[in-house]
Amino acid sequence: MIETQILKVETTKPAYQAIHLAAEILKWGGLVAFPTETVYGLGADAFNPNAVQKVFEAKGRPADNPLIVHISKFDQLEELTDNITETGKLLTQAFWPGPLTIVVKSSPFVPKIVTGGLDTVAVRMPKHNVALRLIDVLDRPIVGPSANISGRPSPTTAQHVHHDLNGRIDLILDAGRCDIGVESTVVDVTNQPPLILRFGGLTRERIEQLIGEVQTTEDDHFKRRSPGTRYRHYAPEAKVVLFERGDKLVFDRLNQKYFEDGKKVGYIIYSTDLIGEPAVLGRLVGSNIEIYSQMLFQLLRDLDTLGADVILVESVEDIGLGKAVMDRLRMAAK
Ligand code: AMP
Ligand code: MG
Repeated sequence: MIETQILKVETTKPAYQAIHLAAEILKWGGLVAFPTETVYGLGADAFNPNAVQKVFEAKGRPADNPLIVHISKFDQLEELTDNITETGKLLTQAFWPGPLTIVVKSSPFVPKIVTGGLDTVAVRMPKHNVALRLIDVLDRPIVGPSANISGRPSPTTAQHVHHDLNGRIDLILDAGRCDIGVESTVVDVTNQPPLILRFGGLTRERIEQLIGEVQTTEDDHFKRRSPGTRYRHYAPEAKVVLFERGDKLVFDRLNQKYFEDGKKVGYIIYSTDLIGEPAVLGRLVGSNIEIYSQMLFQLLRDLDTLGADVILVESVEDIGLGKAVMDRLRMAAK
């Protein structure tokens, strides 16, 4: 057990002392959880394999699941790859800093533990002052998987990080709730057309507006390339059951069935006319998809805390940010 310190930082003007302390910890091979616009990341010096090893241990993350390297300046991309590709340039110029991760050919300098042994590396420039300042002050790229125990809902507040990783990491920089609430969109730009490996905060629609049609891992041929899609992920303790939007009949039937089985039923819905007995642990979110996405992991964690055995979740439309939300819900429901 190590002692985990929490330091509050302001997003707009993070205090230099806090950032400096965090950078010192990273410099000496420690672990610092930091806020980004998507979810909280678990930071370690990307060029220190021992520090990166500790990230896998703290999270209980499978070693073949590669990490995303976070940078604060375009120059740092050149230390990580020799070949950004034209689409890589277009995408990063348009969407960085932001919720986009590109997968490019890895330079020989990137430790294999970061890439999961692949010849590619995933890179992102987060749109969060605290993250950018931290990388700037350290003056090196940092790895930043979500700062949670592997498989659990990603952390969107410092309290979530503390709940999962207290005693396993050195410091948590607390800048409040993350804006987007789901992880970055991962695009493999070594492929032509580019391939979306994971849906996330940047929508497919915005990517396609810029560079034309892209492929997705739902195309069968690519499925095995995306490790995160095969096992239960983003999952609360409770069983997650999805139902079609507005389907009162199914909602009532599931609600009744689990209640009769003696289960404590929770729900995440946005159709007010669905609310009914006997489910007790309700969470209503507005149909605004930005807020749904921002609150999704928080709501799953809340319902766990309240002791739900089953969470009934109303599906959202599978477009735009809704695609990222539905992907996570489907994995949580596996
Ligand atoms: P996480 O750190 O939990 O946000 O997950 C990072 C995800 O990015 C992984 O699960 C992969 O799907 C993807 N990823 C990271 N690096 C690579 C890579 N070199 N090649 C393909 N996918 C990658
Ligand atoms: Mg994760």
